[in-house]
Amino acid sequence: MYDLVVIGAGSGGVRAARIASQNGAKVAIIEEYRMGGTCVIRGCVPKKLMVYASRFPIEFQEATRFGWAMGENKFNWAYLKEKRDSEVARLEDIYRTNLEKAGVEIFYGSARLLSTTQIAIDEGQIISAKTILIATGAQPVNDISIQGYELCIDSNDFFLLEEQPQRVLVQGAGYIALELACIFQNLGSKVSIVYRGQKILRGFDAELQTHLEEELLQSGLILHPERKIVKIQKVNNGLQVHLNDSTVIEVDAVLKAIGRKPKTQGLGLQALGVKLDQSGAITVDMHSRTSIPNIFAVGDVTNRVNLTPMAIREGHAFAETQFGNKQIVVDHSLIPTAVFTTPEIGTVGLTEEAALESHPELDVYTTRFRSMKAALSGHSSKIFMKLLVDRTNDRVLGFHALGPDTGEMAQLMGVAFQLKVTKASLDATLAVHPTAAEELVTMRNPTRQFNK
Ligand code: NDP
Repeated sequence: MYDLVVIGAGSGGVRAARIASQNGAKVAIIEEYRMGGTCVIRGCVPKKLMVYASRFPIEFQEATRFGWAMGENKFNWAYLKEKRDSEVARLEDIYRTNLEKAGVEIFYGSARLLSTTQIAIDEGQIISAKTILIATGAQPVNDISIQGYELCIDSNDFFLLEEQPQRVLVQGAGYIALELACIFQNLGSKVSIVYRGQKILRGFDAELQTHLEEELLQSGLILHPERKIVKIQKVNNGLQVHLNDSTVIEVDAVLKAIGRKPKTQGLGLQALGVKLDQSGAITVDMHSRTSIPNIFAVGDVTNRVNLTPMAIREGHAFAETQFGNKQIVVDHSLIPTAVFTTPEIGTVGLTEEAALESHPELDVYTTRFRSMKAALSGHSSKIFMKLLVDRTNDRVLGFHALGPDTGEMAQLMGVAFQLKVTKASLDATLAVHPTAAEELVTMRNPTRQFNK
């Protein structure tokens, strides 16, 4: 009998398995696809490599304004795919080796719980565990109300594309939709985005949404807000997409990115009485324990904060608490994050809208400017930065930025937020000149002030 069996070898599951094993537990992990999960195999990692590739055309253009004579600059999708896939395979290998080195036994196949201690692998081999951790992640949502929905591709299929579609329609305006739309667009495809809301990136700071929208339009993306796809059909040279306002768009690929749902089907959870919430996510307490005392769940399958670093943290906390004699509770409240659109977004803390609800005496500092590089390159893109400060105690409550490397800035501002940064301490910090980030420590006067 194993002390721990982990189902799903993604970011959360692998971390939990390794830490539990290092704490002396006898651990097995079951994976039905590839080591590394969504982030490594068909998410963050290959996506970021594609983001890098997609930004070169902008730099080639800028380079000519800095005296470079550029050549043909032809892009080869198949070449990039091959290089990207081999990097992913290299990382997958590292994940597997690290598990093996930690003494974790690996099983390939799909898992189903037969009881609270027994797990069937591919309906054949049965293994037993004192503790079970479910870390199966999430998968793309389908909208079967669209006639012809099966003609769409999703983010998993995106990474399998052998050729670059020249005309693309993206459905949705969340993280995945916008990141993949920007990749296609900057690599030369003609891209339209159809989304049901008024704004892109629901839940983000409204000013940030507006500025990103402007940047996307400027980059040539075509936005169709408050629209829905009703029908997709094959035509001679591609796909014909019908929107609910009678617009018809012809494309080579329709990419749906309308959210992800927790991957719980087939695990046998309901039969055991493991509680799920309305979204189908596994309900857990602050120690990631489900309604069954020896069954735990971490990562996207619990639909708390669906980000890789959070899954890792949840997996780590679970393993240290259950097998390392420590009591670690994960803080889900302060989350630095980036959206790798071009330009990218970096953000941490409250949006202006949320800050105003809880902190009515709010000072809002904003700045929007062309980068120093743009002085020569002529690029029309503008950098935007915003700080939200509670006037009653000077605490910085929110940081939102749009522009090159703002994801990197969000990581460092995350540290400052963790240390409970005040506006006075930002003001006291010496600027690094010339950088874009120096604006964070040189914003002197609020753009607007709110009172009770
Ligand atoms: P999101 O929740 O970010 O976006 C979903 C989008 O689909 C929204 O625009 C939503 O519209 C729309 N939508 C939902 N249901 C429908 C429907 N039935 N019809 C039409 N539109 C619909 O999900 P993603 O799939 O983009 O990303 C999943 C998660 O993955 C994110 O929450 C994020 O945590 C993570 N992620 C993080 C990344 C990063 O850190 N850079 C990168 C990629 C993913 P509406 O707003 O109106 O609900």
